[in-house]
Amino acid sequence: MTVALKLENLAKTYTVGRNLIGKPKGYVHAVRPFSLDVATGDTLGIVGESGCGKSTLARMLVGLLAPTEGHLEVEGETLDGKAPAEFGRMIQYVFQDPISSLNPRKTIRQIIEQPLIHLHSMNRAEREARILEIFDQVNLRPEFLNRRPHEFSGGQAQRIGIARALAANPRILVLDEPVSALDVSVQAQVINLLADLKEKLGLTYVFISHDLAVVEAVCNRVAVMYFGSIVEMGDAREIFTNPRHPYTKLLAESAPVVGTNVRRTEAANAELPDPMNPPKGCAFAARCEMATELCRTTEPNLNITNDSHHVACHHA
Ligand code: ADP
Ligand code: MG
Repeated sequence: MTVALKLENLAKTYTVGRNLIGKPKGYVHAVRPFSLDVATGDTLGIVGESGCGKSTLARMLVGLLAPTEGHLEVEGETLDGKAPAEFGRMIQYVFQDPISSLNPRKTIRQIIEQPLIHLHSMNRAEREARILEIFDQVNLRPEFLNRRPHEFSGGQAQRIGIARALAANPRILVLDEPVSALDVSVQAQVINLLADLKEKLGLTYVFISHDLAVVEAVCNRVAVMYFGSIVEMGDAREIFTNPRHPYTKLLAESAPVVGTNVRRTEAANAELPDPMNPPKGCAFAARCEMATELCRTTEPNLNITNDSHHVACHHA
């Protein structure tokens, strides 16, 4: 296996507020230190409920946010302290909300041209050839290039967002909830397109979603995040057929199934702990039926339970 993306003890802590002498009023450990390799050609799913740190992680991966600690490598090349342009040639971001992520005053051509100018210094003819090539790959018609973002449907706009990300010819795409804002029928089209592009271009994906069904459809590896930590990681099939962390089980059980009533458990309704005042032991203990004194006092580590399946739980 070749490693496309390597994270070593990557973490982000936000400081919140300042008092009169400039001392922070508090800290939010949005992503706690963890290490992870993503193999070339993998689609790694990152799942977890809102506020667990997914976007913070995504923004660090693409150089939009500096990590508080840790290292990042793409294909063996370190990205620590590199300028956003260096990231941009290797790893690109696809945003959740396709229309609002595209500048409304620019034409689609002007939008897709930007990375070609700034990352690859292409001249006009080279840019035009590249834009037409990428447009063809995402199944968009060339006449769309002279229009502006508001003239497109959500699905078309997301294909434009994907074209913009791919124009830079990156090795990795970080997709932050790429289909969450789309109608279900359109979701399937975009998911199929992403699968084709990955195959054709030899890409690696980090695919963030709160929707387990989507993750199951597209990912071969899955990392489950809770309150800033990865609590379970493994092959997608393993995670979905044999979830071991109580939080993963809860996610799987509370995913709505067509034609059934949504099951509401007390734990499913509970919220994440207060990030400004984190609990001492396992962050999930207050919602967990299996929690014991050990869980309330000692944080579990991500343990290797077999070759590829890791769980951070005292009772898994
Ligand atoms: P997700 O994408 O999973 O919803 P985020 O990465 O957006 O999660 O947020 C993780 C945590 O970090 C949340 O508690 C959020 O309130 C906090 N957070 C996000 N951005 C900032 C910021 N700029 N300053 C302070 N706290 C932040
Ligand atoms: Mg988010």
